[in-house]
Amino acid sequence: MPNTFSISGLANVLYIDLSNETSKVVERQDLHDKYLGGTGVATMLMNEGSKEGTDALDPVSPVVLSIGPLSGIFPCCTKVVSVFRSPLTGEFGESHAGGRLAMAMRFAGYSSIVITGRAKRPVYISIHNNDIAFKDASSIWGLSSTTDIGKILRNVEPNIGKRSIIRIGTAGENGVRYASVNVDTYRHFGRLGLGAVFGAKNLKAIVVSGDGEIEIPDKSTYSNTYKKIFSNIVETDLMDKYHDLGTTENILPLNELNGLPTRNLQQTSFEYAETISGENFADNYLVRKISCAHCPIGCIHIAMLKTLFAPLHEYEVKHISYDYELVYALGTNLGILTPESVLELIDRCEQYGVDIISMGGVLAWATEMSMHKRFTTGETMNVSLKWGDVTNYLRAIDLIIESPNEFYSALAKGVVFASRKYGGDDFALHAGGLEIPGYHTGVGNLVGLTVGVRHSHVDNGGYSIDQKAFKNNLSDKEIVDLLIFEDDIRGVLNSLTICLFARGIYTYDTIIEALAAIGIERSEEELIELGRDIFMKKYELKRKFGFDLDDVRFPSRFFETASTNGMIDEARVQNVLSMYKDRRWSTGKT
Ligand code: SF4
Repeated sequence: MPNTFSISGLANVLYIDLSNETSKVVERQDLHDKYLGGTGVATMLMNEGSKEGTDALDPVSPVVLSIGPLSGIFPCCTKVVSVFRSPLTGEFGESHAGGRLAMAMRFAGYSSIVITGRAKRPVYISIHNNDIAFKDASSIWGLSSTTDIGKILRNVEPNIGKRSIIRIGTAGENGVRYASVNVDTYRHFGRLGLGAVFGAKNLKAIVVSGDGEIEIPDKSTYSNTYKKIFSNIVETDLMDKYHDLGTTENILPLNELNGLPTRNLQQTSFEYAETISGENFADNYLVRKISCAHCPIGCIHIAMLKTLFAPLHEYEVKHISYDYELVYALGTNLGILTPESVLELIDRCEQYGVDIISMGGVLAWATEMSMHKRFTTGETMNVSLKWGDVTNYLRAIDLIIESPNEFYSALAKGVVFASRKYGGDDFALHAGGLEIPGYHTGVGNLVGLTVGVRHSHVDNGGYSIDQKAFKNNLSDKEIVDLLIFEDDIRGVLNSLTICLFARGIYTYDTIIEALAAIGIERSEEELIELGRDIFMKKYELKRKFGFDLDDVRFPSRFFETASTNGMIDEARVQNVLSMYKDRRWSTGKT
């Protein structure tokens, strides 16, 4: 018989201790009543579990995975929030992934999973309903491909169609500070190095599945609300962009607007943008579009890469997911000229399980350094990086993952670490220690990345505020207001683990209706306050981990290359940052 969960019973936290291979379930209604789920609950669980004087890769540092009350119940509530201490920045780490994991956790009966300790041998955790097993992963530790690891686990684990398989590659095993966790092949906990935290715990993979059912208190209200949200997604054009070309639709407009970082932000438009545009990928390489479980949008674009591996027309065909950030990071930012080369680079990173935006940032910085002859051939092991040189980029990726010497080991720690060691910090492009995403749009983007809790473009969408500023000439005060509004509403969306692509569907009114349909009453004021409270709680954690907004310094390259809104004036950025701090913390002190 499947387990049946009442809505009020969706607050179970599964605590796993890898050191002793033990687990227990505790109902944390207290946290869920206050923070709903997702990012809010995960932040509080992290706060409870993190200990003073430990670092990101210390076995006691927890990894928290959380879903929200709408997961598995309404469409597009598909994300799982992971919270951890980032081995890349040393401070608050948070990354979100779709795929099937949220569904699997919901129907296994867990709103959060908290993992601490370090296993004595490589293990993977198998979670099927109430059965938690710690299984030997020695035979898959060291395998060179995350795709193959997925195939092997699919063969030995039950519950086809209901399970989610998340795993690390050799990047995570080797402690590359920006290693990712692969989720169901085409999704990832990409940013800030969760893969290295898994590796430090000797944790190769987690398999989750469940057969539970959820008892909805008022089926008629639920059904009507569901239909309304669903038809808004599929019968309007609100989500067309994501299904049609996907986020690569942004390549040509951002190129046109001088917002597309190119060759380590030496330029903001790329002369071969047409060749690697979303349009060209769709017309000539796209073979299918897929969705996270319980999402009708289907934004995940899969391209086919066909390569000759032997005479007599022997081909290998690979299916590789692509999106805007990947095409920027391993395309324009490295001066790569063809979609085949971009796909080849994406695939190499995917197989190792490494964050592609960070890898692109590291390679772009290293290319500039290399072209200025700032490294010796002994250090680089004769790999001479040049814009567009895909062969040497592939070799450099291999060496960064293997880290055979001090030089590649430094590159495996990110641009901040590498530039402190070798120089070139003026063009080591990061915000808060995290390599930058694919936007150079103006003040909103730079301040948004700096103040965002994850230093990610999705924290507050500063790049999109700049695009509004480009059209409507926003004042600095209006930019600050919009950043704060977005920080806070995204805190709410992320507590409900709603995919941010569906933020146009889930307005405050819709969120209130969806929560009410399952018996959770919240007003708009309460939700706004919740978003603000979560932001503040994250900043408390950031400070505990050593982050101080007053210490931020910007690489000068940001102010030397034209953006969508023209040249960016550093004094203006500092002024907007100061206005933001005053608005958030009335004393201006973070
Ligand atoms: S829009 Fe894309 S990323 Fe978001 S839930 Fe749907 S398929 Fe997943």
